Amino acid sequence: MAPRNAVHDQAIRIDREPDVKEIDVLWITAGLSCDGDSVSVTNAKLPSIEDVVLGAIPGLPKVRIHNPVLAYEVGDDFMKPFHEAAAGRLDPFLLVIEGSIPNEEVKSEGYWTGFGTGDDGQPIPLPRWIDMLAPKATGIIAAGTCATFGGIHAMEGNPTGAMGLADYLGANWRSKAGLPIVNVPGCPIQPDNFMETLLYLLRQLAGLAPMIPLDDRLRPTWLFENTVHDGCDRGGYYEQAEFASEYGQKECLVKLGCWGPVVNCNVAKRGWMDGIGGCPNVGGICMACTMPGFPDKFMPFMDRPPGSMSSATAVFTYGKVVRALRNFTQWRKNKEPRWRHTGDHLTTGYRPRSFDGKRQKSA
Ligand code: SF4
Ligand code: SF4
Ligand code: SF4
Repeated sequence: MAPRNAVHDQAIRIDREPDVKEIDVLWITAGLSCDGDSVSVTNAKLPSIEDVVLGAIPGLPKVRIHNPVLAYEVGDDFMKPFHEAAAGRLDPFLLVIEGSIPNEEVKSEGYWTGFGTGDDGQPIPLPRWIDMLAPKATGIIAAGTCATFGGIHAMEGNPTGAMGLADYLGANWRSKAGLPIVNVPGCPIQPDNFMETLLYLLRQLAGLAPMIPLDDRLRPTWLFENTVHDGCDRGGYYEQAEFASEYGQKECLVKLGCWGPVVNCNVAKRGWMDGIGGCPNVGGICMACTMPGFPDKFMPFMDRPPGSMSSATAVFTYGKVVRALRNFTQWRKNKEPRWRHTGDHLTTGYRPRSFDGKRQKSA
């Protein structure tokens, strides 16, 4: 990462002309997908899609987003920029892939998933689109857990050989601009996590930000370095060994199957829409939907995660002591100071000084 001062110097120069002045975002939802990530992103506020495409954010290039769930165009009109980009006539562009990549080699006929049609009138399978567009893309975002790690469609025993984008292109893939794949997992993706990542890349391409910081699973570090547990509203209950025994209770959900202590996700901190929600905050266990091993490694859902009982038992021993001490301190501090007590005489804590500078008795 660039030195902090360099970042600051770049960040304050938003009145300058961006290095990239216009850019298209080609968003393909034709992976093995439910379109849930596109729907989720319509709820983004930091920034919203509208803020980006209407140019409300200073310093950004002009952005055109082509997404089949959001587009007004249909048919050939909608497909045109994708074909233009594949032919090398649309540049620069960011590619967004939603849904997992099927292995088109594991069957003898047909296709698993396609997008638009070719000159032969046949659907163009997703891997062919990736082969055509990835070498020409300025950068690629894998949106949602299906596109990042394979997700639900890549469960053990699936017939399609589904995989994540980094499995298909290779984790060391670099765009022609030197950008790695950027993974933003979540099932669905947290809307502001996606838009913030897109905004970062746009600012980077405009010359206003250094290389996007990613972890070893290609996730933006500032979004995924902490666990759900780190930001959970119920963390205080966990620490004091107060556990819910059924849904609807306010205490920590670990005994109901919450994986939050070991899951990289900021949703408990960030909320879901406009800061509201966030799975355990609103009563749902974390089932680890952002994780590379999701869902196989976390099933059966709602069973107690391995280790949760021993950690809960360990917490139980000191949590009771912590709770008792806190209750005592709270009881003491829940009173006004003694010089402000209710009583026969009005006292305020004011202590007038005499002319020799000595304090008098409180009045
Ligand atoms: Fe749908 Fe979840 Fe896959 Fe996104 S990650 S396409 S929301 S199943
Ligand atoms: Fe941690 Fe889950 Fe309990 Fe929240 S509900 S404190 S994330 S174990
Ligand atoms: Fe997924 Fe857990 Fe994050 Fe909810 S808190 S979005 S279930 S990883």
